[in-house]
Amino acid sequence: MAAARPQPRFPELDTQPFWDATKRRELMYQTCDGCHAVIFYPRRHCPECGGRDTAWHVSRGEGTVYTFSVIMQSRHPAFADLGAYAVAYVDLDEGFRLMSNIVGVADPVQDVKCGMRVRLRWEDQGADAVALPMFEPA
Ligand SMILES: [Zn+2]
Repeated sequence: MAAARPQPRFPELDTQPFWDATKRRELMYQTCDGCHAVIFYPRRHCPECGGRDTAWHVSRGEGTVYTFSVIMQSRHPAFADLGAYAVAYVDLDEGFRLMSNIVGVADPVQDVKCGMRVRLRWEDQGADAVALPMFEPA
C-alpha cells in the first residue's frame, strides 16, 4: 500500500476553515469586507489593506492553468507510484491562484498546457481526513 501524502497539522488557526470545508468537498476562498480583494491562501487578515473582516465563499472549481511543471522523480514514498505528474498554478475564475496537481491526463508532458481550462476534482485522503483539491481538463 502506498504511503499517505503529507497532511496538514492541526490546530492550524488560519487555514482550519479551508481544510474543514474540503471534507464537504467545498473549495473555499475569502474576500475582504473592506477593500473587496480576493484572498488566497486563507488567513485572518487582508494582505491588501490589513483589514480583519473577511468573508468565506465556495469556489465553482473552474479555472485556467497559469503555469505548470512536470515532476519526473519523486523521492517521497507517497509519490513514488505516481510516475510523472504535473504540478500547476491554477487561476480560479473567482480570482485566486492555487497550486495543485493536474490529474486525469495520460501524459502530463503532452496533455497539460498553459491556458487550458480545468475543473476541480477531489482526491480523498481517507475517512474523516481532509480531501485535496486537484484539477482535471474541463
Ligand atoms: Zn482589504
